[in-house]
Amino acid sequence: MRTIKDLEEQSIEGKRVFIRCDFNVPKDEDGNITDDRRIRGALQTIRYCLDRDCRVILASHAGRPKAGVYDEKHSMRVVVKRLKTLLKIAEKITLAKDVIGDDAKAKLKELKPKEVLVLENLRYEEGETNNDLEFAKELASMADIYINDAFGVCHRAHASVEAMPRLFTKDKRVAGFLLAKEVTFFEKKLENPMRPFVAVIGGSKVSGKLEALRQLIEKVDKIIIGGGMAFTFLKAQGYEIGKSLVEDNLLDEARTVMIKARKRKVKFYLPIDIVVAPEFSEDCAIKYIPAQEIPEDWMGLDIGPASSRLFREVLNDAQTIIWNGPMGVYEMGRYAKGSFKMSHNIADSYATTIVGGGDTADVAQRAGDVEEMTFVSTGGGASLNLIEGKELPGITALQAD
Ligand code: AMP
Repeated sequence: MRTIKDLEEQSIEGKRVFIRCDFNVPKDEDGNITDDRRIRGALQTIRYCLDRDCRVILASHAGRPKAGVYDEKHSMRVVVKRLKTLLKIAEKITLAKDVIGDDAKAKLKELKPKEVLVLENLRYEEGETNNDLEFAKELASMADIYINDAFGVCHRAHASVEAMPRLFTKDKRVAGFLLAKEVTFFEKKLENPMRPFVAVIGGSKVSGKLEALRQLIEKVDKIIIGGGMAFTFLKAQGYEIGKSLVEDNLLDEARTVMIKARKRKVKFYLPIDIVVAPEFSEDCAIKYIPAQEIPEDWMGLDIGPASSRLFREVLNDAQTIIWNGPMGVYEMGRYAKGSFKMSHNIADSYATTIVGGGDTADVAQRAGDVEEMTFVSTGGGASLNLIEGKELPGITALQAD
């Protein structure tokens, strides 16, 4: 994969550079950014271009807005504010009111060397998620050079990641510093991991991570499952799981995964106790109970304290740990404990620790453990796809002839 460093000085100096960033940052209920790692992660590439007198165009998606509707909630406004603080050139950064509309075009015309234009949320345009060629052409017409620095979206064939780079000649499309660093790290660390190699997988659904689980079983020595997805496995074992999140259509798959783990002698761990509540809220009486005793009309929203202790023991001898997905509904304070304890346990270990995914990185950040982790990736789905050995459309497009 060619990177920004492979661009000859004269081919970048003073050019219009389009950088596809991943500014899809977690926010609290008031819209404040809770973890700006993805913005800070992009600074090296942005500064490299500014130092070379480029006119820099930044573009990203944020959340899942309805295409065609420019709602304030998903605007790049807060990202631009943070960029201004971090880059310390506030007066040289502007936000366009649209993506490829009149305002973006007018502001692009005015853009001078060493200035930054941020386009509005790419997903305001239908063409982005449809990988629409005409939309990609509009984006491509804005720049001389294309840089992908958005590892977090490389597993998606979206216009700014897949169709767009293909419109540039090979010498004019490259990976930014962040993307190059992420890909190199995963390739190096996961090709020959130090053992025991433990995967900690959580989050809401089995469906999104099923393929990764299948692949991980071939590679790891132990798997810990937490979060909402644990209930599909518990139910597959015949337990009552009450109103907890479950994917009934995946019970057989869950059984197959557990059988495969047993055959390969991979140790498979599920929570042994659960924090349950009568409703999806923190304003109610909650309790923790053994995983076998979830009442019929209660739901599991976090792993319990005994599970945290068990998982700490499981991680004790690990040499490599990969963590993807929170252990509970960590966004609500009362159900964040299991995820925070997992974060502390991983951070305290002597293993090489790899944290993947926006939510998981957010947990590590809120738990104050980020500095203790070996590597915090900006990409959750993308890192799982790399582990699965899948080609990432965004990277394939960069490498295409
Ligand atoms: P994912 O995007 O699949 O990694 O899932 C992350 C989400 O899973 C977070 O927003 C959590 O709130 C959610 N989650 C974790 N545990 C549970 C649970 N027990 N029930 C419902 N949602 C959960």
